[in-house]
Amino acid sequence: MESFGACLDGRSLLRQLSASRSPVRLLVLLLFFAGPVWGAVAGLPGGDPSDSFAAARRVMIERDLRGRGIKDARVLKAMEAVPRHLFVPEELRGSAYNDRPLPIGSGQTISQPYIVAFMTELLALKPSDKVLEIGTGSGYQTAVLAELAASVYSIEIVPSLGERAKKILEALGHRNVEIKLGDGFFGWEERGPFDAILVTAAAPKIPEPLWSQLREGGRLVMPLGEQRRTQKLIRVKKSAGKQVVEDFSDVLFVPLRGAIENPPR
Ligand code: SAH
Repeated sequence: MESFGACLDGRSLLRQLSASRSPVRLLVLLLFFAGPVWGAVAGLPGGDPSDSFAAARRVMIERDLRGRGIKDARVLKAMEAVPRHLFVPEELRGSAYNDRPLPIGSGQTISQPYIVAFMTELLALKPSDKVLEIGTGSGYQTAVLAELAASVYSIEIVPSLGERAKKILEALGHRNVEIKLGDGFFGWEERGPFDAILVTAAAPKIPEPLWSQLREGGRLVMPLGEQRRTQKLIRVKKSAGKQVVEDFSDVLFVPLRGAIENPPR
């Protein structure tokens, strides 16, 4: 079983990296040491704090994403472009580039960077794609999708989260995103069909409306399983109208709320 929460601690990472002379690892080492130095310099009067976040973000890309097997260059570039620290509560900004989920209020969490990268990679987005996301949360994953696709439609059931995400995404200039407040179980029929659908909360089965709003050849990625147990990350492709299911590692997500909790008898 693989846990996405687990990550090498700093010391063992350095030990492993020091043993190697490959250019990529040397670059990671450089970033590892340079990050805190830049951070300290940026903290001095006249320093720009956004530089220290950029350095921390590069460390995250090399150590937690590329270092753990994320290969898609477009995904890596998108995650280098999106300022994750702006999507977390202000008091947690210092931890924004650690490979961890963080609380965002209303009992919800922003997914850890590795998971965001992995799910995005599984969607195999083309620049012309139209994407539906269920569970906007902080809006961070939405921003990553917006870097990679033509348009992103995202639905959030907790109004305060959806409103906050909308403001941040607007402030960052993502004009290809539309956010709706409501139950994502029903999808967004008027905006469909979609080339890709991403569900960022766990459910015991694929919501039927989402499946029917997926275009032929489209991909749906979601954590499948019961709440508070590990779930399987799955990718379902629509091929000649049929489900082609692949499953990946075990994950732990908050549950999908709303209609799916009270199925009709
Ligand atoms: N991907 C986001 C949030 C992940 S947490 C991020 O990284 O920030 C999952 C989110 O799904 C939470 O914000 C939760 O409120 C939302 N959610 C749960 N059930 C939902 C439903 N039925 N429709 C829409 N959003 C839902």
